[in-house]
Amino acid sequence: MNDLEQHMASLADCARPFSPLPRDCPACGSRQTAAFRPRRAPPPAQIATVRCARCALVFVDPVPSEAMQGESYGADYYEPWQGRQERSRIRLWKRRLALIEARSPRGALLDIGCGDGLFLKIARAAGWNVEGVEFSPEGARRASQRLGRPVAVGDLAHEDLLKGPFDVLTLWHVLEHLAEPAPMLDAARVRLRPGGLLVVAVPNLDNLPMQIAYRLARGRRLPLYEKGAREPHLSHFSPSVLAAFLERRGYENLEIRADRCALAPAKRAIDAGAAVLSTLARRLLTDAMVAFARRPR
Ligand SMILES: [Zn+2]
Repeated sequence: MNDLEQHMASLADCARPFSPLPRDCPACGSRQTAAFRPRRAPPPAQIATVRCARCALVFVDPVPSEAMQGESYGADYYEPWQGRQERSRIRLWKRRLALIEARSPRGALLDIGCGDGLFLKIARAAGWNVEGVEFSPEGARRASQRLGRPVAVGDLAHEDLLKGPFDVLTLWHVLEHLAEPAPMLDAARVRLRPGGLLVVAVPNLDNLPMQIAYRLARGRRLPLYEKGAREPHLSHFSPSVLAAFLERRGYENLEIRADRCALAPAKRAIDAGAAVLSTLARRLLTDAMVAFARRPR
């Protein structure tokens, strides 16, 4: 076993084996949880989705071991990102970069979970000093190729790499994949300069229009966790839960808005409707959201 294989095996070991005891809330440490959207599935459907009674984080319990392996995000995962979809992704990354540039001067930027490095390439072309780290060896390989230099493979929450300080740190749809998102937010905070900007995008648990559309189209509820899913989500945030979580991890000056990241036309249309409804209802109902927060000075 080489160093990288050993490293990935140790990450896989971090996943808890099935345990009859409920795990503590990964956002606030509370032990009081209740089943969220209980399903009538008989055993052996062992993976439950529960909601913390204290902070309202929704999370899966126990942590399925399949969800914690970098190899889950291999070539098959990245292949659909090529070709036509890449053009839509370029437009998406430019929109997201504009949101950052409205809030921070250009400087040093670290993208945690940089995937195939497309965002980093676009940010670098715009004048940012970019670094990336990626949990999936395949993603890091693709990012290295795209950027023409090595991109770190690893888990920033548990490894002493890329210390910064950075002016901006981005977590684009990373937190929902983590069984323990708190250590990642802490690792991010210590790498930001005082006053630096954290950007966290996650799916929105309050995505009611998407839930209704899914139910109409598929005749069943939009699942929160499905074994073998392309992207297993382990933690689910509503806007208020995300805000409280970021504050608890020592961030301030919070701002949360829609992350309009859908690429498929039907999903884009539903999300456009959700954005209008959000304005009317004064409540964020889009399928995903992005939070901007600062490390205190
Ligand atoms: Zn909690």
